[in-house]
Amino acid sequence: MPELPEVETTMRLVAPKLVGRTVVGTDVSWARTLGGLTRPAFARSVTGCTIRALRRRAKQIVLELERDGDEAGALLVHLRMTGRLYVEPADQTAGAYVRASLELDDGRSLRFLDVRKFGRVLYVRDADAALAHLGPEPLEPGFTPESLHAALHTRRRALKPLLLDQTFLAGLGNIYVDESLHRVRLHPLRRSNSVRRPEAEALHGAIQDVLRHAIELQGSSFDRFYRTPEGQPGSYQDEFRVYGRTGKPCPRCGSSIRRLVVGQRGTHICPTCQRTPRRR
Ligand SMILES: [Zn+2]
Repeated sequence: MPELPEVETTMRLVAPKLVGRTVVGTDVSWARTLGGLTRPAFARSVTGCTIRALRRRAKQIVLELERDGDEAGALLVHLRMTGRLYVEPADQTAGAYVRASLELDDGRSLRFLDVRKFGRVLYVRDADAALAHLGPEPLEPGFTPESLHAALHTRRRALKPLLLDQTFLAGLGNIYVDESLHRVRLHPLRRSNSVRRPEAEALHGAIQDVLRHAIELQGSSFDRFYRTPEGQPGSYQDEFRVYGRTGKPCPRCGSSIRRLVVGQRGTHICPTCQRTPRRR
């Protein structure tokens, strides 16, 4: 499932092709992609709008719209499991899995392709309100070692599910949580309020390092689904130390990587580097 680095990569690559373009038509083959909105209501909301800017918030791409110079809401694109976003000439036949298209005024079309149909393209009047429940962005200045330490101590949850919780911290998913925890030798079941200050500082640094490196490498492609808008796989999967490496040696100590299930999610750890927390 695309996480922050994959969504950021997608946003950066489509943005130059979209900013300043006007939507001249829509084509939606799977209505549920729109959330609750009907096809005609979606078409009315976005046709004639100009795409003012793109940004990423958590795992969503935000397309800010304007109409006649006034703010006109936004599209929130959530790739979920298998969504992909790319721009191609409008006369190119859309593939079977393209669920929604926006026709643009330059003869191109923004396609939302989604094999498993969990992805969404939502029109909202107020993007900030729609995104207000999300936690801090891990690569923005407001996320500091101090703020992470303090936030961990407001909860008493196991680290893994807490770091996956988008209201606690935005953008992380299964891959980047497992990779970050391994780097700082924290077990995924460690209680958040037991994390000491130096450990929180290290975790903060690891989360930022892992995410920045993954963005540089255009994300991780370990299955056939995630591709950049240019159709290329990312290459951060070659950097994985634990994720998907069950039975292979830990790059730090050589122990066999083990897979456990934490909060119903497959979780990868080094049993030597990441000690099981003592029950208290
Ligand atoms: Zn190890």
